[in-house]
Amino acid sequence: MDKQDSATKPSVGLIGIGSMGWPMGARVRQAGYTLTAIDAAPGRAEQFAKETGAVAAKDAAAVARASDIVITMLPTSQDVAAALGGDNGVLAGLRSGSVVVEMSSGMPSRTRELAELVAAKGATLIDAPVSGGVPRAKTGELAIMVGGDEAAIEKARPVLLAMGNNVTRVGDIGSAHAMKALNNLVSAGGFLIGIEAMLIGSKFGIDEGIMVDILNASTGMNNSTQKKFRQFVLSRAFNAGFGLDLMTKDLTIALDLARETATPAPFSALCREMWASAAAMLGKGKDHTAMAKLSETLAHYELGGASADTKR
Ligand code: NAD
Repeated sequence: MDKQDSATKPSVGLIGIGSMGWPMGARVRQAGYTLTAIDAAPGRAEQFAKETGAVAAKDAAAVARASDIVITMLPTSQDVAAALGGDNGVLAGLRSGSVVVEMSSGMPSRTRELAELVAAKGATLIDAPVSGGVPRAKTGELAIMVGGDEAAIEKARPVLLAMGNNVTRVGDIGSAHAMKALNNLVSAGGFLIGIEAMLIGSKFGIDEGIMVDILNASTGMNNSTQKKFRQFVLSRAFNAGFGLDLMTKDLTIALDLARETATPAPFSALCREMWASAAAMLGKGKDHTAMAKLSETLAHYELGGASADTKR
C-alpha cells in the first residue's frame, strides 16, 4: 500500500464481519484504506485483522471514533440499531461530519429513524445495500444501490467502488433498502418457480443437467438457474453463503412495503409464505438454497439424483 495515498484517503470502519462483511472489508483494505473493524462473534475481528491488516476495535464506539466513514453490514435493522445505541455503540463515538453507510439489507422505515439519530450527532447516514452475494463481494463486483444525501454519497463513493462496480443512487434515505427488498422478492420468486419446474421435469424423466442448460439458453433463464441450481441444489452443497432466514427477512420487508403502499401482491405474498415455511421447516442456520427442500418434500422427490449430470 502507498503510504502517502493512505494518508489522504478517509479512514473506514466496519461493523459486522460476516459472510459479506469479511470479503467487503478485505476489498476496502486492498484499495488502500485504513480499516477499523468489529464483530459480535468473539475473536472474529482479531482474525480478520490478522488476515487483512485491519485494526480490531474493542467496541463499536471505538470504530466510530477512528473512522470518517463507518460501514454497517449486519443481519437486520434491529442489529444495526443495537450497534448504534448504548454506551459503547457507534453513536457514542461518532464524529461530526462522518458518514454512516448502512450496507445491510434493512427495513426502510427503520433506516429513516436511524438516519435521524445519526443526524443528531452531526453526521449523515445513507443506505447502501448490495446485491451479488459472496462471490461478487470477493471480486469487488457487487451491485450497490444507494439512498440519501447526495453529498454524503459522493463522499462514500470511492469506498463503495472498492466493493462494487455498479453504484446507483435510488433516491432519498430508505429508498435503496426498499429497492433491495424488491430485488430479492424477484430473485426469490425466480428460484422457487425454477425449482418447481425442475421437479416436474425430473419426474417426467428429463435429465436435470440438460434442463438447467436449456433454461440457461432460453427465456426461462434467471440468476438462480445460472448461478444456483447446478452449484448449490443439484450438487446438494446448499452453501451459497446467504442465509434462509435473511431471505425470509427481505421478503417480509417487501410485503410490508406492499401493504404500506396499498399494492395488492398476492403472488408475492404466496412467495413469502413459501420461503417462511421453508425456514420454519428446516430450522435456523440454513442456506437460502436449501429452500428447494421444501418443494422436494411437497413433491416427495429429491433433485440431484445419480442420473443428473451436475458437473457440467
Ligand atoms: P452474516 O450473518 O454472515 O454476518 C453478520 C455478522 O454480523 C455476524 O458475523 C455477526 O456476528 C455480526 N453481528 C451481529 N450483530 C452485531 C453487532 N451488534 N455488532 C457487531 N457485529 C454483529 O450475514 P451476511 O450474510 O454477511 O449478511 C449481512 C447483511 O447483508 C444482511 O442484511 C443480508 O441480508 C445482506 N446480504 C447478504 C448477502 C449474502 O449473500 N450473504 C448478499 C446481499 C446482502
